[in-house]
Amino acid sequence: MNDKTVANTLYKSREKIQPRDVHGFFARLRVASVWWLLGMYYLGPWLNWNGRQAILFDLPARKFYIFGLELWPQDFVFLAWLLIIAALTLFYVTTLAGRVWCGYACPQTVWTEVFMMMERWTEGPRNKRIKLDKSPWTREKIIRRGSKHLLWLVFALWTGFTFVGYFTPIRDLGARLVEFQLGPWEMFWIFFYSLATWGNAGFLREQVCLYMCPYARFQSAMFDKDTLIISYDEKRGEPRGARKKGQKPEALGDCVDCKQCVQVCPTGIDIRDGLQYECIACGGCIDVCDAVMDKMGYEKGLIRYTTQHEMNGYKTHILRPRVVVYTVIWVSMILLYLYALANRSPIQMDVIKERNPIYREISGNRIENDYTLKIMNKDHADHVYTVSVEGLPEAEVKTIPKTIRVKSGELRPVAARVMVPRANLKQPEYRFKIHIQATDAPEIQRVEDAQFNTPVNE
Ligand code: SF4
Ligand code: SF4
Repeated sequence: MNDKTVANTLYKSREKIQPRDVHGFFARLRVASVWWLLGMYYLGPWLNWNGRQAILFDLPARKFYIFGLELWPQDFVFLAWLLIIAALTLFYVTTLAGRVWCGYACPQTVWTEVFMMMERWTEGPRNKRIKLDKSPWTREKIIRRGSKHLLWLVFALWTGFTFVGYFTPIRDLGARLVEFQLGPWEMFWIFFYSLATWGNAGFLREQVCLYMCPYARFQSAMFDKDTLIISYDEKRGEPRGARKKGQKPEALGDCVDCKQCVQVCPTGIDIRDGLQYECIACGGCIDVCDAVMDKMGYEKGLIRYTTQHEMNGYKTHILRPRVVVYTVIWVSMILLYLYALANRSPIQMDVIKERNPIYREISGNRIENDYTLKIMNKDHADHVYTVSVEGLPEAEVKTIPKTIRVKSGELRPVAARVMVPRANLKQPEYRFKIHIQATDAPEIQRVEDAQFNTPVNE
């Protein structure tokens, strides 16, 4: 067996899937979700909040803005926490409602839906597209395919531009784009993201779900017999078989074997073969099968949202131990997050002690220790701060500059000299506290521990 034969044996070449158009409740729900999510994505960076871009991940300044929330590198934990809550929400929703994320909200589904919409506008419905795939390169094929790729390209570039607009102020980005003044990294990311959108939504499509997405692989671990799934009612549908409209032969079940559920499936599976990891729960097969049942005069729901328990004749339990545990963890995480966010200090201070010399004897028989205070104003307004010390006998503190004015968003180093009468010092070192407070907003304050060294020997 040569190398080529081995390759042919191991890998089945991909058969292009041309899903049939589908109309119905779940199709409308998916389209509504697509417009809502894409609307948020494309409009998001154009929204303003307090005179600046509402959502901006300003990497050079190392600050993230999300409406009224301003996150600094020190607040990275809040971003990480938010991602953990998002992951937990996904697990929670999956346990309750199966793969609704995949069917209605995953970016891969959402962008593929729009790309398929453009494909239908330019190349027509499923039958026409299949014919076009097989036809030679005629004038019509070049025009139809060319228009499709032109639409895809414009949309992909717009997507890439919007993506970069979340990291660079989008109005400025747009102005520099028309003047051909974009920086190399901005160009790179616009083209890279555009290419990724074009490739994923235009060409790879279901292969991203089938071969690349890790969630598709491990979501079964979150499923139980009470999780909502899309399922074909085998007991009712089998034995399947064709028949005339309005007839109901005794020997046959309700499935008329029209295969429309297979033709609408974006991942190309037959839901009648049972629950499969390829099913992204888009609901397309429910819509189309309901329409067939309607036409035949049968009850709808041969394919439906259900649970394994319901299918096997048992009661479905919504409240079950894992759901209760997830609910408690999920709600607690969100409440804790909101509490921590609301109580986030708008001021940060690092105290760095001067070590050379470790202390100094100065006039008036006093001992002085020097510090650098790195003050970061994370508030929306500028502030003037006062510095005081606690826990040192008769200590005096002087700062350079005397008036500590820190602009909003500024990190300012300030020299601080702490002086104590020598007679008051009885031990080689003291732990004390440096207290900083905004003069115009006393509630904005911060206390940090520091060390004071003395010439006293024990
Ligand atoms: S659409 Fe319904 S009736 Fe047609 S093959 Fe699928 S399950 Fe059977
Ligand atoms: S089997 Fe049905 S719900 Fe699952 S992906 Fe295919 S069409 Fe969508």
